[in-house]
Amino acid sequence: MTLPAAAPLFDADVAVIGLGAVGSSAAWRLAVRGLDVLGFEQFEPGHAWGGSTGRTRLFRVACLEHPGLTPIARRARDLWRELEDESGRPLFHETGGLMIGPPDSHIIEGTLRAAEAHGLPVERLDGDEIASRFPAHARLDPGDIGVWDPEAGILRPEAAIIAAAESARTAGADLHIGVRVVAIDPDDDGVTVRTERSAYRVRSVAITAGPWIARFVPHLPLTPHRVVMTWFRARDGHEATLDTLPVFIRSVPGRDTWIWGHGAMAGTDGDTGADHVDGFDGSDGFDAKVGPEFDGPFPADDPDAIDRLVHPGETDGISDLVAATFPDLDPEPSGTTTCIMTHTPDGQFVVGPTAHPRVVVGGGCSGHSFKHASALGELVAQSIAGETAFTDAAFLDPRRFQAG
Ligand SMILES: Cc1cc2nc3c(=O)[nH]c(=O)nc-3n(C[C@H](O)[C@H](O)[C@H](O)COP(=O)(O)OP(=O)(O)OC[C@H]3O[C@@H](n4cnc5c(N)ncnc54)[C@H](O)[C@@H]3O)c2cc1C
Repeated sequence: MTLPAAAPLFDADVAVIGLGAVGSSAAWRLAVRGLDVLGFEQFEPGHAWGGSTGRTRLFRVACLEHPGLTPIARRARDLWRELEDESGRPLFHETGGLMIGPPDSHIIEGTLRAAEAHGLPVERLDGDEIASRFPAHARLDPGDIGVWDPEAGILRPEAAIIAAAESARTAGADLHIGVRVVAIDPDDDGVTVRTERSAYRVRSVAITAGPWIARFVPHLPLTPHRVVMTWFRARDGHEATLDTLPVFIRSVPGRDTWIWGHGAMAGTDGDTGADHVDGFDGSDGFDAKVGPEFDGPFPADDPDAIDRLVHPGETDGISDLVAATFPDLDPEPSGTTTCIMTHTPDGQFVVGPTAHPRVVVGGGCSGHSFKHASALGELVAQSIAGETAFTDAAFLDPRRFQAG
């Protein structure tokens, strides 16, 4: 008598839930390790409805948020470059970046702390040097100084996510696009992942669901909230390109707040591959982008129900800050869109195992994770593969919020 073959215990080694910035990279980094990967994305890679829309993201190596982020940014840059080579898409433009503020401000102190910790080749500029080298930033408060980070630049988020998902597929990941995971049930032996139509049995899960992450790990203090992004054009006869206005984070003259952004780029540098994304006009170019400090309190918005319209008056605040800082820019926005930011209480990400060792998370963007996302995917993959992390990422351990 021949017995029927036993059903395999597992459909895959690991399921990655959410193929946005961190998840597409996690799927890629898991698959290149030879693990059997199932990926789930409720929309499509590079879509406009999560935390990674808006054409550009700032990249910095002198990370003012925490010196431990510098090695993550550097590893991420290597991985973005690898994805550029694999996809043929331009993903990272190194422009250098200027941080401006009083010497005792978080912007300056944090940037210098990271630079000193890692011996980064930053330059310290006084007000006169800022005004002569970067005339767009000539409006300064007395005593403001600058720190130039030559390794800063911009990333193309939608295209980078598409490229990571493609590389994950090439490495063997089985990606289910347009499929929403509705529940996970972890136990001692594995995890059952349920979609609207099917159930899958895997050894581990990576929860990389961005603004939706708290649905799966509600005990983690992650707060999604709606943000409006704004673009601006140079006034007639003036210029505000990436050359004259490279990446910046700076204090606003006469105000107790700061802004971030970069200049415009003409749409001539090749195909990012993201022109199917809602809001793209088919060109790779963009106007100058300026955004405000996000200083909380952060209201919890349901990511499925956030208002995607930008209403009259909503951009008056940022227009006022642009008018106070950049005389060359028309303070009336040339474009707007909404995006979702996900905050943690300490402003750092959550990357690593939860109280359940088979459930690993990668998220909690806190407004500064895109630059690191490829390396956060690597950390997620290392955690699941049982490898030693490429850098000390204990400050990102999700279990810091679970003590007691
Ligand atoms: C306005 C703004 C400006 C920012 N500026 C910068 C910057 O300059 N530099 C920087 O480094 N960072 C910046 N950030 C942060 C950065 O963009 C985000 O941290 C990052 O893109 C979020 O990545 P994520 O992978 O966590 O989330 P996402 O990219 O949103 O990915 C989550 C994915 O999970 C999917 N998903 C969710 N639930 C499910 C489910 N149940 N089933 C299947 N799929 C699911 C979603 O559809 C989505 O694709 C900014 C963020 C915002 C909002």
